[in-house]
Amino acid sequence: MSHHTHLPVENLSVSGSKALDLVPFRQRRVDGAILLSNDFGEHLFVTDAEYQQMLGGGVTRDDALWTRLKERNFLAKEIDRDAIVARMSDKLRFLRHGPNLHIFVVTLRCNHTCQYCHASRTRMDAHETDMTIETAERSVDFAFESTSPGLTLEFQGGEPLANWPVVEHIIEYARQKNALAGKSLMFALVSNMSLMDEEKLDYLIDRKVQICTSIDGPADLHDGVRIWKDGASHATTLRWVKRINERYAELGLDPHLYHVEALPTVTRLSLHRGKELVDHYVDIGARSIFLRHLDPFGWGAAAQQRLGYDMNEFLTFYRSTFEHIVDINRKGHDFVERTAALLLAKIIGQQEPNFLDIRSPCGAGIGQLAYNYDGRLFTCDEGRMVDRSGDNVFQIGTVERPYREVISGPIVRAMVTASTLDSQPGCATCVYKSWCGVCPVHNYCEQGSIQGRMADSTWCQKHMGLFDFLMERVHRADPFELELFQRWATPRGQPHYVHEREAL
Ligand code: SF4
Ligand code: SF4
Repeated sequence: MSHHTHLPVENLSVSGSKALDLVPFRQRRVDGAILLSNDFGEHLFVTDAEYQQMLGGGVTRDDALWTRLKERNFLAKEIDRDAIVARMSDKLRFLRHGPNLHIFVVTLRCNHTCQYCHASRTRMDAHETDMTIETAERSVDFAFESTSPGLTLEFQGGEPLANWPVVEHIIEYARQKNALAGKSLMFALVSNMSLMDEEKLDYLIDRKVQICTSIDGPADLHDGVRIWKDGASHATTLRWVKRINERYAELGLDPHLYHVEALPTVTRLSLHRGKELVDHYVDIGARSIFLRHLDPFGWGAAAQQRLGYDMNEFLTFYRSTFEHIVDINRKGHDFVERTAALLLAKIIGQQEPNFLDIRSPCGAGIGQLAYNYDGRLFTCDEGRMVDRSGDNVFQIGTVERPYREVISGPIVRAMVTASTLDSQPGCATCVYKSWCGVCPVHNYCEQGSIQGRMADSTWCQKHMGLFDFLMERVHRADPFELELFQRWATPRGQPHYVHEREAL
């Protein structure tokens, strides 16, 4: 990359005394230019000469640079305070109320033995890991205590369809409660589809439950990792994805917005098959892919060795797969990479998509809660995974305790502090601070403390790598790409899934 030919930003000499009255900003060398960002989440690329001029006080109102700085709110005396306050208030709206995402682990039983999923499943006969109707009701009661105007109840496992009566009961009970509470209520189900049937599907469609699944790639890749000894996982999943998408279409829903959300888990086996993975998603009618590096919290040691990879390998995979996705769009096929869409929504869309792992503070306890089958409550699903490996440090209470006590307890407070970027060494001065987030659970697993050291954190390495890459792509984007990135940065809601207060 060309930036090696430039001086580090800190070493640029500055002369002159009439410095501009600038708001606090941070900077980083990106793609040969200097990237500036401020606390309002706005950014600007300047050249070395402009940077020196800016700091040396040689910028006058007649300069184009003055206008660019003003437009991006870098000039303290020129900012429209009311507009900025309104925007920041909207971006941080999640701070005004309690958790929105409530993850219900209705059972740990699963008929798959996916290679990366040792910690979070049990055998199909381990009925003691089924959530009971009583625990389910107490859990829903607890969720409805949240002051959030919107609630999403997400069913996970194990395989949640293995405890179908409780899934159904939670949905009915929550709808009943909502007749009084009047929240924007949504349901989501994460399933491997192996226990799906027409009757369950009729119910899920009728109750407007968003359905998500896992597809790790073409059949050999998927079935090699997602092992189901009594069936063909890939073929079964695909059959149901197709069927469910047909049902949405029959309801007249826009297929761009309403389709089964499929997620891949990227393993060492898929690292060199990025293009194939994307082409497979296109073939099966998917409109997007979420290229994520998964933290190996729940992976056994053997799986880590066989399936794990380092962050540089992931970033190389990400960059080349991203270019392939841009090419697909260039050929006229709308297809979104969701990690990029999420970050671009923040960077160029000036939005806060409220993705709980990339925000400051993160969602632990204040944006999400995980409800274990036995009624124990965790900061988030990742915190629950740590418990599965024998350490209950992220347990914040049980559903029998009062909401206020649990939510304002010491663990939630510590998680908020540990994930607020303004108080993290490294992050506080990072050009990506306004758009990034850190994960205390990741810090704990990797470094032994929820307070991370970003200088040697693979979490930071990933985010720095993704942001550097995307900013470089934005900096050198051609008109087609600019338009594409802008489209990705404009999230669209899915109102069909929202239950308002219903008369029952
Ligand atoms: S985690 Fe890394 S990339 Fe993100 S804000 Fe902190 S220092 Fe910057
Ligand atoms: S601790 Fe980590 S996994 Fe949990 S909500 Fe925060 S960022 Fe997400």
